[in-house]
Amino acid sequence: MLTKNSDIIAAISTPFGEGAISVIRISGQGCLKKINKIFNGKTDLEKAKPNTIHYGKIFDKKNKIIDDVLVSIFKNPNSYTGEDSAEISTHGNPLITQKILDLLFSLDIRAAEPGEFTKRAFINGKMDLTQAEAVADIINARTNVSLKGARNQLDGLLSSKINELRNLLIDASSLLELELDFAEEDLEFISYKEIKRRINNINSELKNLVNSYKIGKIVKDGVNVVLVGKPNVGKSSLLNYILKESRAIVSHIPGTTRDIIKEEISIDGILFKIYDTAGIRLTDNEIEKEGVYRSRNAVKNADVVVFINDVESSFPEDLYQEILKLTKKNIINVINKIDLKRIKPEKNEILISAKTGEGMEIFFNTLKEKSFGLEIFSEENAIVTNIRHKNTLNKAIAFLDDANKAIKEKLSNEFIADDLRRAENALGEIIGKVTTEDILNNIFSNFCIGK
Ligand code: GDP
Repeated sequence: MLTKNSDIIAAISTPFGEGAISVIRISGQGCLKKINKIFNGKTDLEKAKPNTIHYGKIFDKKNKIIDDVLVSIFKNPNSYTGEDSAEISTHGNPLITQKILDLLFSLDIRAAEPGEFTKRAFINGKMDLTQAEAVADIINARTNVSLKGARNQLDGLLSSKINELRNLLIDASSLLELELDFAEEDLEFISYKEIKRRINNINSELKNLVNSYKIGKIVKDGVNVVLVGKPNVGKSSLLNYILKESRAIVSHIPGTTRDIIKEEISIDGILFKIYDTAGIRLTDNEIEKEGVYRSRNAVKNADVVVFINDVESSFPEDLYQEILKLTKKNIINVINKIDLKRIKPEKNEILISAKTGEGMEIFFNTLKEKSFGLEIFSEENAIVTNIRHKNTLNKAIAFLDDANKAIKEKLSNEFIADDLRRAENALGEIIGKVTTEDILNNIFSNFCIGK
């Protein structure tokens, strides 16, 4: 059972630093009465109409002005958290917000935990769990596609799909249970054949959702691309070309870059995180141990490895074997510096010049193709972007498989209904109909403070 919090919480909800304004958020029953104690304006905030904004001043304990502020007030249940709450807008200086926050803390208001405002919104029924999770995704989204994916989730696209499937499960198990109630009369409300048909339909929809995680993960987290190759083949130059700016060091002294350079770009609205391992070997080398470790890790975690050679060097079979040991994932073979020498490409080789830009279009198309294949992010369909949802969907699928097995073994309705209820519960976990403090803490601890 989830307990509703009765204490009042406060936090600075805007980023730390200077800005035109900063906002302090306060929530909890009785918070307006407390804020009244430090607010000097024309209105009594407790008596004011909900959804109104009030100008006033806030003084410190020695009666010195801290700032003039605007207080927006919201009343239960029509607020983000579903509780009485307020937002104090101040001049954007952390010195000011911290002083006001300290004043609030002296009034028996406590500091909000990460994500606690959104957690309260969930507990008070303002949004379901997938929507609460989408709030964090909206804040973290760095490309238009990831923003749209998160927006869809916040708008309930995934929840409504899950609810639809959940209701189908409830229907089916109810019919089976009804039969149990009338066992003595030997009535049949639903045939084995029909129940099987329904289970299979739901199962295939669940599997579609699980499969959507392939593109969903990319929509949310982006694609990890690692550039690997012998020194001097042009990894940094390629990265620079990709970035169209010279942030990675372009150098012709082998191994000058001692760290992995990570750059993020957006191609067609998808986030690409590109790691340049320039200068760091994959093979063991005592002096560069840390670098070797990092490079190997980067390759292991890569979605796509761009293996770069140049027209002047022979194919480094040793390095290639090393990469194959670390990853079986997509490898793009690139031969750079074709402006220096004309060569015929071997199968699967892409010829480019990081200097002149030749071959880059094919390179980018291959990069996209290897990253998300032919999958296209559909804005209309519910997709799964969250590993928790994917794992829980798989749990539901396993219960439906159990139900199918029970049918095959001609077990009594009780057993089939029980498996369907378990599957339904698993779907309930996704939207938060069924949840525990542990699940919630896990989710909300990854939020920022003030959200
Ligand atoms: P890295 O060690 O693999 O990162 O290689 P760099 O990007 O530092 O490049 C090594 C040298 O090759 C530099 O002098 C670059 O200017 C040069 N270079 C890189 N790409 C090309 C290319 O496509 N054509 C030519 N002619 N030179 C290139």
